[in-house]
Amino acid sequence: MVIEGVSKSFGDFTVLNDINLAIRKGEFFSLLGPSGCGKTTLLRIIAGFESPDIGAVTIDGTDVLPLPPNQRQANTVFQNYALFPHLTVFENVAFSLRIKKLSKGDVNAKVLDYLKLVQLEAHAHKKPNQLSGGQKQRVAIARALINEPRVLLLDEPLSALDAKLRQHMLIELDQIHDKIGITFIYVTHDQQEALSVSDRIAVMNLGNVLQVGTPHDIYESPATDFVARFIGETN
Ligand code: ATP
Repeated sequence: MVIEGVSKSFGDFTVLNDINLAIRKGEFFSLLGPSGCGKTTLLRIIAGFESPDIGAVTIDGTDVLPLPPNQRQANTVFQNYALFPHLTVFENVAFSLRIKKLSKGDVNAKVLDYLKLVQLEAHAHKKPNQLSGGQKQRVAIARALINEPRVLLLDEPLSALDAKLRQHMLIELDQIHDKIGITFIYVTHDQQEALSVSDRIAVMNLGNVLQVGTPHDIYESPATDFVARFIGETN
């Protein structure tokens, strides 16, 4: 995915200032920065929920900005899960297959595969209010993956969970990423999370990307005082 010259303002306030990023296919890429730095807005632009004032976003060479969200093949996992409360786990995960012309048997097999991927096959017939936070987030992940997007966008997906579960879910996310091999773009304000799981990280502040690099690069050779201080807060 290539993000070129993306800027966005709300009124007089510049949220994103000429963002340029080349995210490699299959990479676990994190957007890391403090609250308000613009990372969610950038994710929403990639997903199609927001338009930039200027700039371009291409995925596998396709200019996605003219496309509606459901045609971008970049699905989002939200912080608050956004599950359908009246549908079962199975129906939530099957939801985005409804427009595809699949037989009932194929839908069942596919949903089961994705429930296995997130270790929820035993909970298929529960409703969201019968699940723990971690289980709800697993449903959201399976639902976002089942129609085989090119990119999975994760907007602080673990922030509603307690610290221990967050650690556990991060390992699971890493394993899911290894299994399916698509690009993950992970938004977080948590340095430890980004450092422990990412192939590369873009550190953002005040609408700017300050540094892009591997966790090792960023930890060992921070490009600015801000990056050094922000990353140093993990110690
Ligand atoms: P957080 O971690 O708190 O979600 P963030 O880095 O993801 O922060 P954004 O959600 O992208 O930041 O928001 C960046 C700035 O843009 C914030 O100051 C926010 O108040 C502002 N902003 C976001 N969306 C809008 C909007 N629709 N209208 C006006 N201002 C907005």
